[in-house]
Amino acid sequence: MNSSRKCPVCGQWSQWNQNPTDRCEHCQSILDPIAVSREQAREERRQEESKRFSVDFIKIDPEDPWYLSLFKRVGLGIQITFAAIISFILWLIAFLAG
Ligand SMILES: [Zn+2]
Repeated sequence: MNSSRKCPVCGQWSQWNQNPTDRCEHCQSILDPIAVSREQAREERRQEESKRFSVDFIKIDPEDPWYLSLFKRVGLGIQITFAAIISFILWLIAFLAG
């Protein structure tokens, strides 16, 4: 479906395919800047959320001395337990909310 839209920058009418990335035929500005910024905000929020729930686990290096690898193993055990508890709580919240 083709329609036209008035460019918010130069005020000329341009062909518009309801696509947020469509640009003005006259000055190449984005015809629907609000939709574009809304889309970007949603994308950023999604990345933020996936970052928050991903846990960086300790890397155990085979070259580490025994006391360091023991220390790291304990730390890793705590991290895995903690991640399991967090994911259980998240699952529980989703379960109770649904
Ligand atoms: Zn324009």
